[in-house]
Amino acid sequence: MRYIVGLDLGGTNLRIGLFDYKIQLLNKRILSTPDFRDKDSLIEIMVQSIKEIIKDNSIKERNTLGIGVGLPGPLDYKRQLVYFLPNIKGWHNVFLGKILKERIGINTIIDNDANLICLAEYYIGLARKYSNLVCITLGTGVGGGLIIENRLYRGTNSLAGEIGHIPITQDGPYCGCGKKGCLESYIGNQRIIRQAKKIFKKNITLEELSRLARLNDIRAIKIWKSVGEKLGTVLAGVINLLNPEAVVIAGGVSKAGKVLFDSIKETIKERAMPIQAKQVKILNSRLKDNAGITGAALLVKMEARNVNFYRFS
Ligand SMILES: [Zn+2]
Repeated sequence: MRYIVGLDLGGTNLRIGLFDYKIQLLNKRILSTPDFRDKDSLIEIMVQSIKEIIKDNSIKERNTLGIGVGLPGPLDYKRQLVYFLPNIKGWHNVFLGKILKERIGINTIIDNDANLICLAEYYIGLARKYSNLVCITLGTGVGGGLIIENRLYRGTNSLAGEIGHIPITQDGPYCGCGKKGCLESYIGNQRIIRQAKKIFKKNITLEELSRLARLNDIRAIKIWKSVGEKLGTVLAGVINLLNPEAVVIAGGVSKAGKVLFDSIKETIKERAMPIQAKQVKILNSRLKDNAGITGAALLVKMEARNVNFYRFS
């Protein structure tokens, strides 16, 4: 039996999963990303965690097919190079795949986390039910992945799908990418938390804000409605452009539930062209918090078979 390790680095958590060849999750660990302030200590903890999860499950390294890593930022997939991570400081032009392979001795492949979530939802969560699929990840950042005609669409420089960096205003607040007025600068989770603090006059977590919305707290409902309107407006454009069958909403913020989803759906109905809007299904993530690590493991399996994707670099 061959094993695969999947990593998912987010602005909040680093998740590590051990999978078998059928992409069944055998074991999982979660660490807090901000605990590792600089790039080198974050890489070090990745190396240690991968080694540990392999060792603790009594697996020999030669029985590990590969390591897949999802990263929250733009990267060059062909060269396996991380350009930068908008929400994690100190990452510029890092050949992370090569570094991990050298340190651990196992083939490693890196990709944008939203691409991996999209792969996982398309192949496993939705079992290839839809040929044209858009996936949105809502967390510290806002990511996007595109399945077009049953294939992951990467774009010219493997940078397609950056939905979070679609500008929604001429001006507006600065975004982690360095530009102004991006969707992410309005609905990234830090922004939602800051807005909630202003309204509630105290620190409030996203979980608490979701719970309050379920309890019909008018202030919490207003915040989530506004998030849904902004996301729905951008999605209306994406839907007009790509005419997808479904949009999957994943990531921590998606846990806000009905009030957020209703607001997204209403906005799309109002703002997108009628036939495309009627056709598209807005779905909650099937794989939830495991989507990123599952996609990372799946990519390793696909690359090892060389189906539709580039070879390991
Ligand atoms: Zn941006």
